[in-house]
Amino acid sequence: MTTPNTEGTAAAGSPSRVLVLNSGSSSVKYQLLDMSDRSRLASGLVERIGEETSRLVHTPPPGAGAVREREGRIADHDEALRAAAEELAADGLGLDSPDLAAIGHRVVHGGLRFTEPTVITDEVLKEIERLVPVAPLHNPANITGIRTARALRPDLPQVAVFDTAFHATMPEYAARYAIDVETADAHRIRRYGFHGTSHAYVSRKAAALLGKEPAEVNVIVLHLGNGASASAVAGGRCVETSMGLTPLEGLVMGTRSGDIDPAVTFHLKRVAGMSADEIDVLLNKKSGLVGLCGDNDMREIRRRVDEGDERATLAFDIYIHRLKKYIGAYSAVLGRVDAVVFTAGVGENSGPVREAAMAGLEEFGLVVDADLNAVRSGVPRLISPDYARVAVAVVPTDEELEIANQTFALVDN
Ligand code: ADP
Repeated sequence: MTTPNTEGTAAAGSPSRVLVLNSGSSSVKYQLLDMSDRSRLASGLVERIGEETSRLVHTPPPGAGAVREREGRIADHDEALRAAAEELAADGLGLDSPDLAAIGHRVVHGGLRFTEPTVITDEVLKEIERLVPVAPLHNPANITGIRTARALRPDLPQVAVFDTAFHATMPEYAARYAIDVETADAHRIRRYGFHGTSHAYVSRKAAALLGKEPAEVNVIVLHLGNGASASAVAGGRCVETSMGLTPLEGLVMGTRSGDIDPAVTFHLKRVAGMSADEIDVLLNKKSGLVGLCGDNDMREIRRRVDEGDERATLAFDIYIHRLKKYIGAYSAVLGRVDAVVFTAGVGENSGPVREAAMAGLEEFGLVVDADLNAVRSGVPRLISPDYARVAVAVVPTDEELEIANQTFALVDN
């Protein structure tokens, strides 16, 4: 079968396309990339899977027409993936194409076992299933996505790329909680960290922006999206990160509390009579910015701050205060910092957040140039003045490209 070559890139020879799948509990995001030039061929999102109001939004290759939408119930991940495959086929990019080299899956939790991208076998899938107790909110959806994709193309290599993997280099003293060792080990309780593909990609790009090799630089990466995490990366290796056993620890996030005194949880149980599940929902879904001021979109919060809204202002101040604590702590962990790097939805787009997070840190060598900070751009850039001792940068993250790169590296031989 021949496949129309929509981008005019070389499709001859060995297969060069990778489909990246990011399966959430009620959504699937997909992207098809041509690895011969790293271009994005098509992408899409299926959301509200299982509800009456499911929606698929498909973006065809550049020049191949408008964005297409489908509305109406999509019962499960199997149906979602089949619908996505149909959309891709309509663009001449069907999953049956011989140009498809592999499918790369984002898998949230790799535990201690998976510290590298891994070709998925039955045994690997069983191991990922064994990790469900430590990642009950995420791994089940990832597993469903893998099963469905394997059923669609059983002959094709499928690769798992783990959010936790980049953080596996954290030293034991950073990864271990100071709790009873036997209890911790029996239940695999330790700090794993998340957003690893983003921290890996962004820290490497930041080194390139400085004209250096990753091994030559120490960087603090601030991944500020709806979920948010910080990492300290020394010479290309992660030495500390803000998320822990789960993505709840660390920074203030859109709907998650980040760090709190763990005793708050027993207090809520004993005094407020809440169950473990209720506390879980409170801290993961009803806390952070949304819990503090009712909004979790930084654009809306900034609009309210500018209007003098007190709750939004307090929420913003708590968010920034937590960020500063982590920047200070990670400066101490690294000893020497070459760059502080902002990424993800808030980090890439919110000049006010970057300005506020850096304010007063001149003694750390951190300064932001107001004009550079105001520039809106989709490329990696410095926002610190030339004279600054430490670079401050904005580097757009691209987790799908990183997953595709890691997947292709494993299967292209
Ligand atoms: P996630 O992948 O965790 O869902 P993203 O990295 O896509 O999150 O970030 C989403 C968040 O980015 C939004 O909730 C919003 O707060 C923020 N955001 C997006 N665009 C802007 C903008 N122009 N200014 C400020 N914040 C923005």
